[in-house]
Amino acid sequence: MPRLTRADLDALPSYVPGRSPADLAAELGLPEAIKLASNEVPYGPLPGVAEAVAEATATTHRYPDMGVVALRQALAQRLGVDAGRIATGCGSVAVLEHLVKATCAPGDEVVYSWRSFEAYPIVVAGVGARSVQVPNTPEHGHDLDAMLAAIGPRTRMVIVCNPNNPTGTSVGKDKLRAFIDAVPQDVMIVLDEAYLEFATDEDAVDGLVDFGDRDNVVTTRTFSKAWGMAGLRTGYLVGSETVADTIRKIVTPFSTNSCAQSAALAALAAEDEMKRRAALVVAERERVTAAIQKLVPDAPRSQANFVWLPLRDDAVKFAKHCESQAIIVRPFAGDGVRVSFGTSEQNDRFLSVAEGFFAE
Ligand SMILES: *Cc1c(COP(=O)(O)O)cnc(C)c1O
Repeated sequence: MPRLTRADLDALPSYVPGRSPADLAAELGLPEAIKLASNEVPYGPLPGVAEAVAEATATTHRYPDMGVVALRQALAQRLGVDAGRIATGCGSVAVLEHLVKATCAPGDEVVYSWRSFEAYPIVVAGVGARSVQVPNTPEHGHDLDAMLAAIGPRTRMVIVCNPNNPTGTSVGKDKLRAFIDAVPQDVMIVLDEAYLEFATDEDAVDGLVDFGDRDNVVTTRTFSKAWGMAGLRTGYLVGSETVADTIRKIVTPFSTNSCAQSAALAALAAEDEMKRRAALVVAERERVTAAIQKLVPDAPRSQANFVWLPLRDDAVKFAKHCESQAIIVRPFAGDGVRVSFGTSEQNDRFLSVAEGFFAE
């Protein structure tokens, strides 16, 4: 067969979906399994969201609002920025993909920390750009000095994942300010703030409040995590008018679908409940992390809704052990395991399973 797709894409890993809890439960002959693998919040959709989706289905024979006007306006009001600075997409991963496409020609470079979000190498390779991965510090966080040093003449973008998925570490304000000051003005700095709502450090960065006035800083956010809308696929960026306008031009048309637009508006109206739930997650985080650190002393403190267990060669073995006990976690072979926080009962169950592993 003649080659139809680009040869450079062959090296990308194929996407391996996480196990479905229903399949695992059936295999183990149990009523249910617990999924702590995808950084979702365990409390269901926010109040009003399911109703908003149901209502939106009445007009699904029509195209959605291409300009996403109502949602962008609601976000603009909430964030205190002009709606012209906002662009939405089918999840913030899609928004990032559009940003890479808008900045990089084949052979250009994107610098980011590694290990970080698995989607980065994929969206970078998608446009034929080159990933420059800068190893995390021994404490599992971004090495901003090394990232700065990795910026070269071909670098078009640098991504700061804050807090970082999958390690949960975060970069504080002063260090990030010094970094942003030092990055050349013509390199786009993307602050990926998918987990912002869970960050409680006094020093926690809010990309908009702290760096929203910088022309080369773009903040990306999502409704998938704290806002409980992972299945509806909505994310957005806030950047300069020029950047946001460019992304609105190249975005896959209508990719923020009508159910997602209505749902996101309903979610924003339930912000108090989102905050209450995020606080529950944070309380669980402190409790579970303290227990985990007794088993895995170098597990870093997390500012997100998951914890990183740097188990290295035992990562897959640990995940298999959890799975045999009906708990699905996310291993990264040879590196570590990421465990999302569930309800307190689910977390208790996870902790006892983890204790069982280390007792062996
Ligand atoms: C989950 C996540 C996102 C958001 O993904 P969506 O496409 O909006 O669901 C973005 N960045 C990071 C680092 C994430 O972990």
